[in-house]
Amino acid sequence: MKKSASSNADLVSRSLSAVWHPCSQMKHYEAFPLVAVARGQGVWLYDFDGGRYLDAVSSWWVNLFGHANPRINAALRDQLDQLEHVMLAGFTHQPVVELSERLRELAPTGLGHCFYGSDGASATEIALKMSAHYWRNSGQPDKRQFISLANSYHGETLGALSVTDVALFRDAYGALIRQQATVASPDWREACDGEDAEAVALRAAGELEAHLQQHHEQLAAFIIEPLVQGAAGMAMYHPAYLRRARELCDRYRVHLIADEIAVGMGRTGTLFACEQGGISPDFLLISKGITGGYLPLSIVMTTDEVYRAFYDDQTARGFLHSHSYTGNPLACRAALATLDIFAADDVLRANRHRAARLNQIAAPLRAHPAVRNWRNTGMIWAFEVESPHADFARRCFALGLQHELLLRPMGNTVYFMPPYVISEDEMQWLVERTLAVIGALT
Ligand SMILES: *Cc1c(COP(=O)(O)O)cnc(C)c1O
Repeated sequence: MKKSASSNADLVSRSLSAVWHPCSQMKHYEAFPLVAVARGQGVWLYDFDGGRYLDAVSSWWVNLFGHANPRINAALRDQLDQLEHVMLAGFTHQPVVELSERLRELAPTGLGHCFYGSDGASATEIALKMSAHYWRNSGQPDKRQFISLANSYHGETLGALSVTDVALFRDAYGALIRQQATVASPDWREACDGEDAEAVALRAAGELEAHLQQHHEQLAAFIIEPLVQGAAGMAMYHPAYLRRARELCDRYRVHLIADEIAVGMGRTGTLFACEQGGISPDFLLISKGITGGYLPLSIVMTTDEVYRAFYDDQTARGFLHSHSYTGNPLACRAALATLDIFAADDVLRANRHRAARLNQIAAPLRAHPAVRNWRNTGMIWAFEVESPHADFARRCFALGLQHELLLRPMGNTVYFMPPYVISEDEMQWLVERTLAVIGALT
């Protein structure tokens, strides 16, 4: 029986009593809003009382083609009548086979094998385990350490946290994990006088080289977020870093893991961010946007070389990992519908036009005296706001809602990561309302 919510207030109070919300200090909800969403349509979310919010962050970076997308809805309805789920050990099904074949066509060359997980963090876990197990199967069991970039984010389960460099998480759970080393981020905001983005990237690669030289015998893999470090506050960097990282990982025989959970699926302007460095990683992690923001799914793609190191008569040499919902048919079908839209609508090309328009429309925002480090890669925009408020992020979120805008700053970094269906009128609206919010907070 469906218990219908009569109003925002009713659902919010029931939620605060029964639901422990993620990424939240629950007490803050005494002063800051929790939004009850009744339905979504395109870039808009609607509450129960007639309020609406432009989803400028694609609901934590997952939504690509708007809420309640008719084409993805239709694919899911069709799939529901055929097969909702079957275990993937000992069984297979059409959506998982088709998705694996299509990703092999679309991904950087050499990544012919798809292993399925349920969310981003599980993809990170899978890649770390697979890399270390590869070296073990290859007679080099000492290669079982990892490195990541400063300010990296690869998920929040214990293995993923060990390669995540976010102080808040690291401090609370540090005692539970085997923290791995980090090397300098190529973030262009780290530029010294006279350095351009490429020079910053190459300087950071120098530190990577020194680390690899010294530690490669213990290192299984280097994990990176290609081009944009999302949770670091949309730190963007030059693709020269990807080329150097690939060369160095080859030279020192260390796997390169490209975590494209946030930056894949067209976010940076190409289907995968690695393409802009002209490289293929040893492991490619996909999640978030792959289902268009509909269902949890993650995929770890890897090479023949890795795959072959596990292919054996002995069970123990096989890859030992499973999730109950591995390769769920509904999620795979949503992913296929998402890839269909990319092809049918020539989305990457349309996004180039869309991004150019938003850059023009956003000129007054970029010129605002409190806005610093304006930056854009593909369909991601970010800037820092100079504000006297210590709790800028929460104030900005709350004030944004009053302006019918879903913004979720990280510290003083405001970013836009809109669904790829945002219209010019909606862009105009987004920029005007953001200006109003920033004006009130500076
Ligand atoms: C979101 C994210 C993850 C974790 O994905 P979850 O589905 O939240 O577990 C890992 N890496 C990157 C780069 C991400 O943005």
